[in-house]
Amino acid sequence: MATTPYHEQMVEFLNSSWTCFHAIAECKRRLVADGYSEIDERSPWRGALVPGGKYYFTRNDSSIIAFAVGKKYVAGNGIVAIGAHSDSPCLKLKPKSKITSAGYQQLGLQTYGGGLWNSWFDRDLGLAGKVLLQGTDGTITARLCCINKAVCRIPTVAIHLARGTGTELKINVETDLPAVIASCVKAQLDGDKGDAHHPILLKLVAENLQVDIDSIVDFELQLCDVQPSTIGGARDEFLISGRLDNLCSSFCGLQALIESTQATDALDNEESIRMLAVFDHEEIGSTSTSGARGTLMMDSVSRIAKAFGSVEVDDVVERSAQRSYIISADMAHGIHPNQPGKHERNHGPMFHEGVVIKTNVNQRYATNSITSDVRDTHRRHN
Ligand code: ZN
Repeated sequence: MATTPYHEQMVEFLNSSWTCFHAIAECKRRLVADGYSEIDERSPWRGALVPGGKYYFTRNDSSIIAFAVGKKYVAGNGIVAIGAHSDSPCLKLKPKSKITSAGYQQLGLQTYGGGLWNSWFDRDLGLAGKVLLQGTDGTITARLCCINKAVCRIPTVAIHLARGTGTELKINVETDLPAVIASCVKAQLDGDKGDAHHPILLKLVAENLQVDIDSIVDFELQLCDVQPSTIGGARDEFLISGRLDNLCSSFCGLQALIESTQATDALDNEESIRMLAVFDHEEIGSTSTSGARGTLMMDSVSRIAKAFGSVEVDDVVERSAQRSYIISADMAHGIHPNQPGKHERNHGPMFHEGVVIKTNVNQRYATNSITSDVRDTHRRHN
């Protein structure tokens, strides 16, 4: 059976991953299909993990740790990991999104991360995110919602009403970003009983999930460009998409873990743990329970080491950490053809020239002569 080329698989991954929640669900789906089983952070891992086993767990539905245990792994051995992030700058709905102005119903938005917000104007925008639903028995469940239709728009002011501004677009994120979702005339047909959100928004979400509108408890929704990711360029040489930072590295890390653990004998001689960590909240500083600056990574290192260690040996975590290696995978900005001077002359990332290794003498990256040595993957530094 012919396998789908990587670039086509990545386009599929991108089109399935409108939000960090969708990206993690997609990671989960692919891992499960490849024999990874879910473990629970709230349950003991000692006795649950076995050499040769393949596992994953998620936090907040927006970050995931997946790992395969080498059959020769013993407590204190290292972890070989790839880290990436699931989030991208976007416009998220405010807790009270309901705004009405000049006959329009609009959604109040907050900026997440540092985005080029002018690129969100005059686009076909859908809505997606995580929705909490209450069942008739009172239990709360989370579902993912994806309204793949141009239900929203952030219009720029017509040129006739903004004479003299030329190509300039100054944005006040409080007053310029509310997105139009309906005209008041049409929205009135659905009544207007909501407090925090327009009823028409709740109706859209309920219809998308095929649930009763009253079952919606809360949600975390954002606007999403409905234009699909695609392959472009005269020779199909470009992958054109939003959210490449950092779903590209997430996809590559996921694929690397899955493929390197696929063969029946893949882990037979492995002494380490092979891991993928996809974190949330990189765009806002990573300081959260599901972010890279939170406890997620060290909790994972610690719990894996302890799960295989005997109770009386208390330095397995430190030993394991010192024998581990992590690739922090993220995107680099390729040289802009019209602005090549934006890059330092000898160090501009070129298309089709392979991966970029980021280095910073002030240690914003952990790269040094040893960690950046990719000449020989079998080489060992002691
Ligand atoms: Zn990034």
